[in-house]
Amino acid sequence: MKKSLLMIPGPVEVDSNVLEVLGRPPLGHTSSEFIETFGACLEGLLTVFAAPDGLPVVVAGSGTLAMEMALSNVVERGDRAVVVETGLFSQRMADILKRCGAEIEVVRAEVGQVPELKMVEEALKKGAKVLTITHVDTSTGVLVPVKEFAQLAHRFDSLVIVDGVCAVGGQEFRQAEWDVDICLTGSQKALAVPPGLALVIARPRALEMFRRRKTPVSSYYIDWTFWLPIMQSYLDRKPAYFSTPPVNLVAALGESVHQIIAEGMEARWSRHQKLSDAFKAGITALGLKQIPAKKENQAATLTTIFYPEDVDASLVKRISKLGVEVAGGLYPTIKDRYFRVGHMGSNGIGEILQTLSAIEKALSITTGAGVGAANRVWLR
Ligand code: PMP
Repeated sequence: MKKSLLMIPGPVEVDSNVLEVLGRPPLGHTSSEFIETFGACLEGLLTVFAAPDGLPVVVAGSGTLAMEMALSNVVERGDRAVVVETGLFSQRMADILKRCGAEIEVVRAEVGQVPELKMVEEALKKGAKVLTITHVDTSTGVLVPVKEFAQLAHRFDSLVIVDGVCAVGGQEFRQAEWDVDICLTGSQKALAVPPGLALVIARPRALEMFRRRKTPVSSYYIDWTFWLPIMQSYLDRKPAYFSTPPVNLVAALGESVHQIIAEGMEARWSRHQKLSDAFKAGITALGLKQIPAKKENQAATLTTIFYPEDVDASLVKRISKLGVEVAGGLYPTIKDRYFRVGHMGSNGIGEILQTLSAIEKALSITTGAGVGAANRVWLR
């Protein structure tokens, strides 16, 4: 059966070399071959996150587990936290913080917009141990200018935690330069690996805060007490064991990280931006509107598109019948009014044009206006 083109915001299409590595017979987790694979993969991640002073933790799990690991290791009962809310996934940050016993203040703007710095400043002024930011909220397609928010947070001595699940590897991100203390992601989006890995990169200030905890981390599996020495061992090319690593997924991630670094971070960010610009130009040429109205709030990794009048969620099925899988809406109050297209990983202009062509056909548009506009932007 011919597989449809996967253009949802994760999981994404995976390169054949990565799949080949994934399908190899499993290595022993303390074998010298795996130690080298994991060690090199962790080192490579420091380049991908632009965090030379970071310590990466990679475990079996999804993005949500990475969120939980990032928050639970530095937040203790009674701590105050400020959440920049730009969609469903930032609300999830707030939910996890509540489970950690934190007192939270959520700062939000209208759907599709980013709260003003001033509002976040007012919340931080009251004192906050952490500020959480969702770099790209996959439910709305909203992009947050992480650097500005991180700068602000450090003026108030707050730790900055960024959910980079729909961003890292596609959206420009410089963890050390922007002074982000913890960034987390999952394997299945712009890192272009199948789902199953939770990744967290912690920088010195976050590690220090973890070491100064007064109470133990309440969950066993995500406790850095176990994981930090394991990751350091692999980085030092020494065998270690706490919980069996998903060896095949780690090897697949290693291959993808190798490809990402070979492409170059600047080139990769710029390819994602250009593909996104082309796709969004196509969508606009079809007369369709996006959730974030302003360009500066629009992610490079996905596009969130309102259905035109008289069109409902059945459009997603019609597009799928044409061989392209896109995703429906997710943000509760507008769930049935929009759909989402992911464009990350190894996507090129071919996939963008194929997707636009399927959207045009599903909308019975015969002019080719979307494909034409996207192509013009790409060739510019
Ligand atoms: N954060 C963001 C921004 C996401 O897009 C997602 C997944 N779509 C998550 C967190 C949760 O990741 P997972 O589904 O892998 O648990």
